[in-house]
Amino acid sequence: MSKDPSEWHPETVLIQGGLSRSHHMETAEAIYMTSGYVYDSAEDAEHAFKADGARYVYSRYANPTVTTLQERLRLIEGAEACVATASGMSAVYNALIPLVKAGDRIVASRALFGSCTYIIGEIMPRFGVEFEFVDGTDLEQWEAALSRGAQAVFLETPSNPTLEIIDLPKVCELAHAAGATVVVDNVFATPGNQKPLELGADVVIYSATKHIDGQGRCMGGAILGTQEYCKEKVTPFIRHTGPSLSPFNAWVLQKGLETLPLRVERQSATAFALARKFEDHKALSRVLYPHLDSHPQVELAKAQMKLGGTMLTLELNGGKEAAFKLLNGLKVATISNNLGDSKTLATHPATTTHQRLTDDERVAMGITDGMLRVSVGLENVDDLINDFERALSVL
Ligand SMILES: *Cc1c(COP(=O)(O)O)cnc(C)c1O
Repeated sequence: MSKDPSEWHPETVLIQGGLSRSHHMETAEAIYMTSGYVYDSAEDAEHAFKADGARYVYSRYANPTVTTLQERLRLIEGAEACVATASGMSAVYNALIPLVKAGDRIVASRALFGSCTYIIGEIMPRFGVEFEFVDGTDLEQWEAALSRGAQAVFLETPSNPTLEIIDLPKVCELAHAAGATVVVDNVFATPGNQKPLELGADVVIYSATKHIDGQGRCMGGAILGTQEYCKEKVTPFIRHTGPSLSPFNAWVLQKGLETLPLRVERQSATAFALARKFEDHKALSRVLYPHLDSHPQVELAKAQMKLGGTMLTLELNGGKEAAFKLLNGLKVATISNNLGDSKTLATHPATTTHQRLTDDERVAMGITDGMLRVSVGLENVDDLINDFERALSVL
């Protein structure tokens, strides 16, 4: 077999990519749990600092375990470079901050992960960066907002929790015509399942806390883009402000990548089965799943995403009361606002993840009181169907 990872299939890349064995020739990846590095002589130290990045000098700058994770992610995403971060939010912040300065503008889709809305809508304006939120599914709104100029575009597709799909090729085209860099939060779609860079995006970010870990153990994030953007723009910010990923977390995440395609395939198949099973249930007004024929953008979802993803959103006829009853009645699925775990997790967005928003903001994002978001895990599909069936039957 070729030793060139660019000739391998994704499953092979995720197991062998970026592997760099120590002189002990260990099978599994080593954890380089070290903050510093030593030198043979004063001259050697001088050379290491002159080499600028060719040697490890301090783990806020770079660490071998983190390097392996970055290389594996870079290969699977098909990006020129990858910078790992301590969390998904530090990835979002550090992806956007090098793109803007006072007087610049960010245009973003409205249906974002809550903390992304805070960065763009609350933090950036304090430093003179303006913003405009648009309905991500409405190309006319993108066009109008971008006609007023922008340096960065930020979006998430499918969105949280309404699973709306944004037309990546079209929005990227509009953004590039306006001279903006497009940053896509690809967490809900997962790596490999949707390739924003191939669809026109410039930068992809991940919360590795979700499917990349996949077992709900540790925080992490990643920024992927061109060599020039990662090395010249992002890396100096990371190095000097310090949201560096812990080597231990990098190791957990790189082991998570080994099973990512298997997990996402199974979880997506189970999510699709649950969506089909409950689509016409009389206690539900809507079942949202990107690859379900009744999804308003199913064609676009199929064009952009290989699988429909691991997330499923249910809307109950009986509003908040029914949603709470369903949550409290589940015995296999667990109540949690996290996602991308091997455990099936369900949450009521209006009172948890999106509680901070005003009623009007929630309406604008399409989040209703009867909505439940389900992150489908790796449990047996029939056990999950029975669990939801039983909890729904008492409504
Ligand atoms: C979780 C999440 C984030 C933030 O990631 P953290 O690892 O929690 O910091 C950003 N975007 C999306 C879509 C997420 O689900």
